[in-house]
Amino acid sequence: MENIDWANLGFGYRDSDFNIRCYYKNGEWGELEVSSSNKIEIHMSATAIHYGQEAFEGLKAFKGQDGKIRIFRMDENARRMQDSSEGTLMAKMPVEKFMEAVRMAVKLNEKFVPPYESGAALYIRPVLFGTSPQIGVKPADEYMFIVFVMPVGPYFKGGFQTTPFVIMREFDRSAPLGMGKYKVGGNYAASLVADKKAHELGYSNIFYLDAKEKKYIDECGAANFFGVKNNTYITPKSSSILPSITNKSLMVLAEEMGMKVERRQVPVEELSTFEETGACGTAAVISPISRIDDYDENKSYVFSKDGKPGPVSEKLYHKLRAIQYGDEPDTHGWVEVLD
Ligand SMILES: *Cc1c(COP(=O)(O)O)cnc(C)c1O
Repeated sequence: MENIDWANLGFGYRDSDFNIRCYYKNGEWGELEVSSSNKIEIHMSATAIHYGQEAFEGLKAFKGQDGKIRIFRMDENARRMQDSSEGTLMAKMPVEKFMEAVRMAVKLNEKFVPPYESGAALYIRPVLFGTSPQIGVKPADEYMFIVFVMPVGPYFKGGFQTTPFVIMREFDRSAPLGMGKYKVGGNYAASLVADKKAHELGYSNIFYLDAKEKKYIDECGAANFFGVKNNTYITPKSSSILPSITNKSLMVLAEEMGMKVERRQVPVEELSTFEETGACGTAAVISPISRIDDYDENKSYVFSKDGKPGPVSEKLYHKLRAIQYGDEPDTHGWVEVLD
């Protein structure tokens, strides 16, 4: 096998040796199948292609100091994919079958799991979509589920660091009663223009307000938001936010560290009162925010002047990573150690 420069890997597609596939036909799921091809053949009128009948997941496996591979909270991803299936009228992949497919994909590609020292991880991408032809808008009769994996580099190459975000009211991520709470590809297609503009202006991400009133904080890029003040971890509650498993985990850890945790509407002006803010998700765990510029109102909320994250973000980040890599005991049953 080629020599992989683990520590300098980015977040880009890369082939591994095998992927796991499963087909839904005649009202039931078939057996899990192993494939060594990175291609699929589906009907040109598949519902996934025309009407976006698709959902995906993202999770990671980590190699510990003991050489063992750990998968983080995959039961949560399995259940979230079922929720996404409800939101798109797709066949639901059973939780146990989803987890078995993930285990198989990781084990068969064991040599792609980066070594402990690199700080890199194996990214796992389950995807589910409608494959049978429709031209009228209707759900498919047949579905395909795939799990593929690839090694991805450490998110922070130069150490744990802050970046600037921007509020732009000309873009919405999702409507209050829309699809924002599901992990579906359409939400990502809808975010590309906003993302491009934010990047061109020198920001790492766009910061979304609620679409209806533009009063409350919703999500930042494809990550959940949290703010810290007075020993309290505060994260928005909204019907258009994707329930992040990282955020859910951080809330538990914050509470165990003796902090108060609040999940509630967060008015945008409250940003001026936070000591620390961050975006959270599987990719980075926490991406701490240096400042949030309000593009429309010519205003700036500053959280870090020297690029360094605050102490709470720092502590939460290292705590969660330590659990994922097996450096600290998994007291919550979040980690499955592969045998
Ligand atoms: C995947 C995703 C997140 C992060 O969820 P995790 O389970 O923590 O990875 C947050 N927001 C959106 C829109 C997402 O798609």
